[in-house]
Amino acid sequence: MKIAFIGLGNMGAPMARNLINAGHSLVLFDLNQSVLGELGQLGAEVAASPRQAAQQAELVITMLPAAAHVRAVFQQEEGVLAGIRAGTPVVDCSTIDPQTARDIHAAAAKQGVDFADAPVSGGTGGAQAGTLTFMVGASPALFATLQPVLAQMGKNIVHCGEVGTGQVAKICNNMLLGISMIAVSEAMALGNALGIDTQVLAGVINSSTGRCWSSETYNPWPGIVATAPASRGYTGGFGAQLMLKDLGLATEAARQAKQPVMMGALAQQLYQAMNLRGDGGLDFSAIVQGYQAAE
Ligand code: NAD
Repeated sequence: MKIAFIGLGNMGAPMARNLINAGHSLVLFDLNQSVLGELGQLGAEVAASPRQAAQQAELVITMLPAAAHVRAVFQQEEGVLAGIRAGTPVVDCSTIDPQTARDIHAAAAKQGVDFADAPVSGGTGGAQAGTLTFMVGASPALFATLQPVLAQMGKNIVHCGEVGTGQVAKICNNMLLGISMIAVSEAMALGNALGIDTQVLAGVINSSTGRCWSSETYNPWPGIVATAPASRGYTGGFGAQLMLKDLGLATEAARQAKQPVMMGALAQQLYQAMNLRGDGGLDFSAIVQGYQAAE
């Protein structure tokens, strides 16, 4: 299949590579010329604009930083919607707010183009290994078209409902993750201050009612889980800046829906403070440092 792939950063480049390896012919666009050169060597074509990439494609995939970039790539003069043929399916895998996804869906529909949102989880490791989870908001017909292609970049392809619901699933999950990481940090630090061995405490939590992914697989206390970023100086993993971005999307969506998110809003403020301290580049589990005495 001829696939236009726009946005070839930390996530998009390995995803595109997996599609090339699966035998698709790719036409690429990114503002960063160096990544285009690398993928060009694998046989992909390079387009001069999103419009030109979309013109030739049987499917368009975008993987961009945030909503403003997605709006620009679709709706600018040289954008996807200026070039795309009616009937060409489109899927945006960026993490953005649900309303922007719905707005672009509406604009695309006017041209006979069906748009899906399909944000991912699994990080850069999952993108490289082709094991991402895709949370897809799409009509049933479009989901059926996209499923086999997404399965070449991921292992869980979940149909969440109509357009926008993929983003809803993503931001609700990540809001919960941000909150649970803070809660585990608070409990581990309290236990440490009160004199229990933190390894013993983690063992009790993980066989009791406090158990969760943040305590068991990704414990923020150093030395508890050997494979967690906490055990390698909070490097790698999921950057606190990305968590802050997702919490911003969740709290903004909550504001629009007039829905209270007290814990989510507090979590956003704590990650905001972490970012201000200059720690936004660390893994998000370094939020625990706000509970530890300075060395
Ligand atoms: P990135 O910043 O590494 O890559 C974005 C790419 O988009 C860059 O190559 C940039 O040059 C390109 N770009 C920006 N504006 C453009 C434009 N107008 N036209 C064409 N290209 C443009 O970001 P990433 O880490 O690949 O993340 C992409 C999306 O995936 C984000 O929405 C992010 O929240 C989400 N996400 C990231 C991770 C992760 O671990 N990195 C995990 C899950 C979801």
